[in-house]
Amino acid sequence: MTIDIDQFMCRTDNFGVLIRDRETGETALIDAPEEKPILDAVERTGWTPTLILTTHHHPDHVEANLALKERFGLKIVGPAKEQTQIPGIDETVDGGSTFRFGGEEVRVIFTPGHTLGHVSYHFPVSKVLFAADTLFSLGCGRLLEGTPAQMWQSLKTLSALPPETAVYCGHEYTQSNARFALSVDPDNKALQECASEIDRLRADGMPTLPTTIGRELETNPFLRPHDPKIRRNLGMENASDEAVFAEIRKRKDNF
Ligand code: ZN
Ligand code: FE
Repeated sequence: MTIDIDQFMCRTDNFGVLIRDRETGETALIDAPEEKPILDAVERTGWTPTLILTTHHHPDHVEANLALKERFGLKIVGPAKEQTQIPGIDETVDGGSTFRFGGEEVRVIFTPGHTLGHVSYHFPVSKVLFAADTLFSLGCGRLLEGTPAQMWQSLKTLSALPPETAVYCGHEYTQSNARFALSVDPDNKALQECASEIDRLRADGMPTLPTTIGRELETNPFLRPHDPKIRRNLGMENASDEAVFAEIRKRKDNF
């Protein structure tokens, strides 16, 4: 681990995240959902951000861009495909882009589906992924712009990362995701245990994130369309993984 991470709530269910390189003190925000809670987090941690790493253009991820840029003079990085929709953007990245953050090389992963230009930020040395609205704990982002095929490809890419990778997401949706996950995969022991733990955390007002790639592979139905029991429950024994994924996504939309 070369970065320290501070996660806090913004708006109603968005996460704000500050990251800080241990050696250089370089500090970044992952997205900028809301000014006030971000300023509170900066004050509490004493970490002053010089960079925003933007995942996608939705207002609940870029709303505070201009206010924070004015206050801190920070640089805003975001996906090239959404640059016209990201306020104050200074530099663009694409899937496969890499850049230094403190002592570590960051890899940008193209993860379209929720939006057409969504990117995720992977810190391979720290073993951390910032997946925003692509991969949630026990869920995935709604297909607001992209196709099931695009989202399935994005999720496959993320699920191939090392299982111990910590995953930070854009929203605290885990408890409602768990209810849906149990409806398509009711006999999954790991999922049942996960759901109880999530209920305990939420009852105590605690965040359910980060999760890990390994845990999601065992519990998240959107990463498990190959699973024979899920397929049987959906009556889709002989369908492609992509078709099963699309059906799970459709059912979640109507859950
Ligand atoms: Zn979004
Ligand atoms: Fe969002």
